Amino acid sequence: MTPLRSAVKLSDGRELIYFDETPGSGRAAHVDTRELPPPPPASQLRYDPLVDEWVAVAAHRQTRTFLPPSDACPLCPTTPRFASEIPAPDYDVVVFENQFPSFSYREVPGGEITELTDMVPVRPGLGRCEVVCFTSDHNSAFGSLPPSRVRTVVDALADRTAEMSALPGVAQVFPFENRGVEIGVTLHHPHGQIYAYPTVPARTAAMLRAAARHAEKTGGRNLYADVLAAEQEAKVRVIAANDHWTAYVPAAARWPFEVQLAPHRQVPDLPALTDAERDAFGPLYLDILRRFDGLFGKPMPYISAWHQAVVGEGRELGYLHLQLFSIRRAADKLKFLAGSESAMGAFVSDVVPEKAAQLLRDAI
Ligand SMILES: [Zn+2]
Repeated sequence: MTPLRSAVKLSDGRELIYFDETPGSGRAAHVDTRELPPPPPASQLRYDPLVDEWVAVAAHRQTRTFLPPSDACPLCPTTPRFASEIPAPDYDVVVFENQFPSFSYREVPGGEITELTDMVPVRPGLGRCEVVCFTSDHNSAFGSLPPSRVRTVVDALADRTAEMSALPGVAQVFPFENRGVEIGVTLHHPHGQIYAYPTVPARTAAMLRAAARHAEKTGGRNLYADVLAAEQEAKVRVIAANDHWTAYVPAAARWPFEVQLAPHRQVPDLPALTDAERDAFGPLYLDILRRFDGLFGKPMPYISAWHQAVVGEGRELGYLHLQLFSIRRAADKLKFLAGSESAMGAFVSDVVPEKAAQLLRDAI
């Protein structure tokens, strides 16, 4: 069932949207009574001509909430003792505009500046950043959600992708989850984020170049579809699959443990998934998350990233897929991005991908 959608405004004007699994919650009755400062201005985008990339400078993010105690969690429902970001006493899935956004449509002071030097153009970081709460249970985790809740989350992300893709100047919509303090999470409550970028991010740009080259060489074939077909054929790196999705370790995985989940049908983004495809995602993804946690017998820090087609030029080259990876390479060891990776972008992987796939298949 499609979740019921209710949009309200927080006291500083930010939008909050409930995605309810059952009707009758009367969301408009719950008013945000907090006195909040006005949201900060948009960040500034600076062009780095040496690598042809944009960098967002968002100094206000230095003051964002950092690991608050659980009775002052901004993502828990509001209680008589603490008014959180969510005015209601309970919720299923809720999405709201980030109080400390990397991108927004609010005026930048000095927004008239258009270049720092002849070589460095500057523009406002127009876009949108949202927070997605997966559950009202502070101590839960995405991997503990029932498949029906994963479906609600997918529906919420699809709703947000469709709406944010239509905003002026948005180049790509990116839903993701950072899990674990090892990754740099600043709130323990199970949540993800959605960025609507005003420029095509560097990795997407590289993927688009590769996909365009492949299409040209093969008379229009989709690169990701061909990679997926090759992995399904090879089988050695496939971890699990169902009628609609396959989960596999990429042959040239950069991270100690990395899995990609892809739908069998080429679709540009989450809104394009059918009901059957949305329903089939949860069971497979939850299975992979359990295998991640089972690897070392403790919660695995991870980044879970939805790669969707860009909004503008090159959209036809996109193929929706989820990239899930961890920086944990052994029970007590993390992989840090040091000299080769950070300075040169040249990854050296510590775990052979076929071995990682075998460990993940054996992890339950
Ligand atoms: Zn919480």
